[in-house]
Amino acid sequence: MKYFLAIIGGGPAGYTAAEKASKAGKDVVLFEQSALGGTCLNVGCIPTKSLLYGAKQYFNATHAQKYGVTAENVAFDFSAMQKRKTIVVRKLVAGIKQRLNNEHCTVVNGVAYPRPLPEGKGEGFIISCNEAEYEAENLMICTGSTNFVPPIPGIKDNPAIWDSTDALAAAELPKSIIIVGGGVIGMEFATLYHELGVPVTVIEAMPTILPNLDPEVVQILLEKYKKAGINILTSTKVEKIEGNEVSVSSPSLQGGDGGRLAAERILVSVGRRANLLGLEALNDIELERGAIKIDEFCKTNLPNVYACGDVTGKIMLAHVASRQAEVAVGRMLKEIPLQRIAYNAIPSVVYTNPEIASVGITEAQAESMSIPVEVKKLPMTFSGRFMAENEGETGLCKMIVDAKNHSVLGVHCIGNPCSEFISAASFAVRNGYTVPEFRQVVFPHPTVSEILHEIL
Ligand code: NAD
Repeated sequence: MKYFLAIIGGGPAGYTAAEKASKAGKDVVLFEQSALGGTCLNVGCIPTKSLLYGAKQYFNATHAQKYGVTAENVAFDFSAMQKRKTIVVRKLVAGIKQRLNNEHCTVVNGVAYPRPLPEGKGEGFIISCNEAEYEAENLMICTGSTNFVPPIPGIKDNPAIWDSTDALAAAELPKSIIIVGGGVIGMEFATLYHELGVPVTVIEAMPTILPNLDPEVVQILLEKYKKAGINILTSTKVEKIEGNEVSVSSPSLQGGDGGRLAAERILVSVGRRANLLGLEALNDIELERGAIKIDEFCKTNLPNVYACGDVTGKIMLAHVASRQAEVAVGRMLKEIPLQRIAYNAIPSVVYTNPEIASVGITEAQAESMSIPVEVKKLPMTFSGRFMAENEGETGLCKMIVDAKNHSVLGVHCIGNPCSEFISAASFAVRNGYTVPEFRQVVFPHPTVSEILHEIL
């Protein structure tokens, strides 16, 4: 049998594409070497959020006095948190399996090796997997990404070193931890360990943690975390690692001469790289900075070959992957009108405490793009609900507005639970709402989302 579509990788990109193409009545085969759900469901977003939620419950219980609540003998059981995390993941993975079964999509467990059909045999692909061969008309590569291991002496084969997958799988909490890389993964794990009482040091090479976010928003988190006792070293370079000792050169240590830091574990989270495993026979595929180059419909330079998700190196977020998959399958099915991805309106969230959520351009990006903007700012305390539920916090909401046509170009917030309403701002950015148009949207009272109305 010749499949309409062969998909390699069963993460958010792969399973979304499989479901959409199958629903349209097409024969689809999906190859997954590990578990359905990919990094996001198995070793990324979902397990992290499950553990973070447990940590937050503990942390809130031990810091409830400011709300007039005293809880004594509060304790946590890390193995119970881990068990719950595993159950959450298992249920979600089973849900995806069920959805693909319902659509009669063939799922093959194993590493897939695609190659073009031999010359003269028409267009299409042969995919080898587990000593069987499958033929397909279209190919979609959704192989994701893997943790990047930087070339720091002493990282390889060092049992003290963890990547995020090791950290999520650990049966026990570390007694202390050094986190190399103050990006999204680094700061979410810093939050988890800090809230569970583990001493944390973050080493970040750039002058700030979370360097891609709005600096004013990040500064609020930085000050709070430093005050809470998280040791955050910025502009700090890791020279080498020996056992559980990290040698750094840092302006904040020993008068600028650098120093040595030690912890039971060292978590390295300095980015991820596209995973091109198994694609060796597609040697003509065009790459860009180590990732597969795609056009606006996620087509590669090879006929009938698409790529979606982290492997394209565009924006490594699960919701970008699934949106790319919808657009790519739409193109494959020649849907009218063809859909496109609004890369300018992709929301992102960092699950620190407080959360950071943003969409669209920052002030700095506007400047580098020579777009004249007006910047609106308001502490989150302008929301009654925020005041009621976030004792001692001020938060911040910033809106970047085009100075010429008054359209909303970006929103950047810090304060709980901004992850839950950033989508309203995405909607405004995606649809090019002007400030007067957005002002006509009614937000429920009392909710923290009202800050998006107040700021206008
Ligand atoms: P990242 O790019 O967000 O952060 C890596 C950080 O490491 C950067 O701040 C960088 O300056 C720093 N760095 C690089 N080399 C260093 C070195 N040698 N020493 C010290 N610091 C160094 O990458 P990440 O945190 O590993 O996350 C990987 C991807 O996963 C990202 O694209 C991220 O968006 C995604 N992710 C998203 C979420 C979410 O949406 N909540 C959560 C986790 C991961």
